[in-house]
Amino acid sequence: MPSSRMKLVVVGAAGRMGRALVRAISESPSLVLHGAVEREGSPMLGQDSGVLAGVSPNSIPINADARGTFAGADGVIDFTSPASTLIFGEMAAEFGLVHIVGTTGMSEGDLRKLEAFASRSVLVRSGNFSFGVNLLAALVRRAAASLGPDWDIEISEMHHRLKVDAPSGTALLLGEAAAAGREIPLTGHSVRSRDGHTGVRPQGAIGFQSLRGGSVIGDHTVIFAGSGERLELRHVAEDRSLFATGAVKAALWAHGKAPGIYTMDDILGLKG
Ligand code: NAD
Repeated sequence: MPSSRMKLVVVGAAGRMGRALVRAISESPSLVLHGAVEREGSPMLGQDSGVLAGVSPNSIPINADARGTFAGADGVIDFTSPASTLIFGEMAAEFGLVHIVGTTGMSEGDLRKLEAFASRSVLVRSGNFSFGVNLLAALVRRAAASLGPDWDIEISEMHHRLKVDAPSGTALLLGEAAAAGREIPLTGHSVRSRDGHTGVRPQGAIGFQSLRGGSVIGDHTVIFAGSGERLELRHVAEDRSLFATGAVKAALWAHGKAPGIYTMDDILGLKG
């Protein structure tokens, strides 16, 4: 095995995204799976991570020793939970690793803590690692800037019944893009729910609607509603492997970069 290949750890390796990541790494000639970590008590501990991911056996068992596994790695891909991502962020900083974070549902406080670790790690965080969604965000930013505050912005998302946070990280990413286009902060301008006698829509609000059901991987629509016309920009994720492909691409891009915070816009050349 050539040593020039980037050595990656997948944390949450038995999860839906974790398995997709193990598959994506196995398909890349530039990457090698260095370790596969799960939480203490997971029934998957000890299983071959390749078999669990539906690819050839790789002799890398799922284990619960994150610190031991991080030693000697180049990077970590982390689609777990907010609390776990903070623990892994601290460990990634300790070892000076690339830390690719797809975990959603992190509070503002969590994000500040995570970003502080990036003084010693190479952090790439995104609410969505697909090329299409990041391009959509760039288009939303542009449309929001062109259309101005007379056009109401509503963001609708639908995900599978097992998703635990709302709105989705992608919906928030799109909301941030719309707010950036209008040159306003999203905080203080978003409407997350409506029920009962809500009164009229506040001017300039960015509304969110979250639908949950079935096995939907991720549908997002950004609606610009003007007087007498409506513009809708939509993205449909058909397979979660596209997030894994984007995360793996981010890891390769980040390998060898200086510590700091990077975004998919940096990686996909969508800045500006
Ligand atoms: P999942 O529940 O199937 O997988 C999460 C896995 O993490 C589980 O196997 C769990 O046991 C493991 N885990 C939790 N804490 C851990 C710890 N301390 N150590 C090791 N493993 C731990 O969930 P999922 O559908 O794979 O999604 C995971 C996260 O990724 C969610 O926040 C989801 O919203 C997000 N997500 C992001 C994107 C994106 O592109 N940014 C795409 C899809 C999902």
